Amino acid sequence: MKILPVFLPQRGCKNRCIFCSQGAVTGFEEPPSFDELDELVRSYSKTTDTFEIAFYGGSFTALDESEQIRYLRWARRYVQLGVCDGIRLSTRPDEIDESRARFLKECGVKFVELGVQSFDNEVLRLNNRGYTREDVLKACEILSRFEIDFGVHLMVGLMGDEAAKDILSAWQTTKVGAKTCRIHPTLVLKGSTLETIYRRGEYVPLNLHTAIDICSDMTAILESQHVRVIRLGLYVPTELLKNIVAGSYHPRFGELVRTRLVEKLYNFLNASSVVHTERESSWVSKLNVGKSKGERLGFVVNGRFVVWQDALERYAEEISKEVVLCSKR
Ligand code: SF4
Repeated sequence: MKILPVFLPQRGCKNRCIFCSQGAVTGFEEPPSFDELDELVRSYSKTTDTFEIAFYGGSFTALDESEQIRYLRWARRYVQLGVCDGIRLSTRPDEIDESRARFLKECGVKFVELGVQSFDNEVLRLNNRGYTREDVLKACEILSRFEIDFGVHLMVGLMGDEAAKDILSAWQTTKVGAKTCRIHPTLVLKGSTLETIYRRGEYVPLNLHTAIDICSDMTAILESQHVRVIRLGLYVPTELLKNIVAGSYHPRFGELVRTRLVEKLYNFLNASSVVHTERESSWVSKLNVGKSKGERLGFVVNGRFVVWQDALERYAEEISKEVVLCSKR
């Protein structure tokens, strides 16, 4: 499903997370007017038949209810006219409760993207997220109960974060009923509090290799449990790349993670070759392993075909054992 993003930069946010600088990565400091939004829909609908309107960049359910209604009415008109297929929005976990969930349902919101970032309370505190793991679990439970599909957004390399915490966050995401997940490494953005901390030498971002490594394991866990990873790495328009002060940014981060995951599964299974379809060609093109095209993604192991999903499940179980062992040490 294609998404038409409408950025409402930091609207509704009651505190500022240390890594956040919405203007630096979206180019929007103010929300667009309704005239501008109409124009956006007009031009976007010429490029695609099916899309959803998504309110991103802030905490939508924390806006004044009258403002939420104005945006949702505007978007709903396009759904009713058959111009777009649905409405989604992003918000913070502590801005979801029963009355808000009911309201979203009544307004026809199809999907909520929860900016969780981590399930670790210490990481949440150090990054000034302003809620706890318990708030996240509660929000997920409410959305599930109201039958509103939701996705979880996770970050790696936050202040106080470590690989084992990221792996546990991925597992938690599979347990709370999320349908999708987005993961991106923390970037030090111009104008963020993290920039000041970084310049004082009190924060060291993950290097690209480590970020790819952690994200590939998280992807294995999530997709082994049928949570679709729909985005890896933050999208930053070329003209705004100058606003990234430090951090593991790569324009094809997702592809690098997928390639690393194929390589890991190949080694883990001791496979003799990778079988892939056209769709995964870019994942395997840089790998120096046996490969051939077939009808399904998988591996040849001892002359037998192991389908991708089975390989993922076996690998995810293995890395989870390691994390449990480490956390007991
Ligand atoms: S809740 Fe999201 S938009 Fe608001 S300050 Fe934090 S990261 Fe930025």
